[in-house]
Amino acid sequence: MKKHIVGIDIGGTKLATVVADENANILYKTRKPTLAEKGPDYAIQLLFDMVDETVAAAGLKQEAISAIGVSCGGPLDTKTGVVYSPPNLPGWDALPLKARLEAEFQIPTTIENDANASALAEWRFGGGRGYDIVLYMTMSTGIGGGLVVNGQIYHGANDSAGEVGHQILLPDGPRCGCGKRGCLEALCAGPAIARRAQEAVQKSPKTALLKLTDGDARAIKSEHVLAAARDGDALALQLIEETAYYMGWGIANLLNILNPDIVLIGTIAMAAGDLLLQPIRETVAKMAMARPVDAAQIMPAQLGENLGDMAALALVV
Ligand SMILES: [Zn+2]
Repeated sequence: MKKHIVGIDIGGTKLATVVADENANILYKTRKPTLAEKGPDYAIQLLFDMVDETVAAAGLKQEAISAIGVSCGGPLDTKTGVVYSPPNLPGWDALPLKARLEAEFQIPTTIENDANASALAEWRFGGGRGYDIVLYMTMSTGIGGGLVVNGQIYHGANDSAGEVGHQILLPDGPRCGCGKRGCLEALCAGPAIARRAQEAVQKSPKTALLKLTDGDARAIKSEHVLAAARDGDALALQLIEETAYYMGWGIANLLNILNPDIVLIGTIAMAAGDLLLQPIRETVAKMAMARPVDAAQIMPAQLGENLGDMAALALVV
């Protein structure tokens, strides 16, 4: 009986394969380093082996697998299954990933960019359960996003929708990884929070932030800012306020345009909780229009460590 599914999570540092039952209960999981510097052929052969290993370890034969879902860094084309040069996967240029997997396993395969797949997973298994219009935002080394409308990912004209982190808030602001200036990502992603903190400590040497890194300003990361803010450090609290202000500004724009039922924010917001979310909500309430503010909850995402696995499985469950 073909009742089981396989999920593949492809990241710049790790590859994961999982086998699950028809309800996405994970039976077995394999995880290995991507070794991205070895290029796509190495990684794909490794994935072939990992899928075989994971299916066998779950006590199944390949005939038991009905579908494979793949969550991978974009850009990519969901219809053709071709991956186009994700920043964290050098050499993956116009790579026919879906075709390679289907040729190997003869199993229908669905490919999706990781932020969209994560949004679908939050809708199906996490904080978005029961909501019609779910906006999911990542908040870690970058700020990505995905929109799920009535259970379907909104892809846009060519799979480019959901780039919530590249809305420009300050045209003369800090340079973003995308090449533009003043994007939300360049103001609020983990490295941006760290950079603002590293600059700010020069003027406030008494901050607890420097104690957390033994006086080394360059070692300050966003998690130090959260820890110091929790202990009431004035500078860290100010950095959290600034971050919440820009996040709130960006989310206010998204609420006015998309009118979601719920906005779920990942990693840093999950770690920070109301310390960050409450000032975000206050900014959003001031800056967005009243009707979309009334409709939308702003909450931490719920899927943590196994988000990548659930994202891949959500595509085929
Ligand atoms: Zn950008």
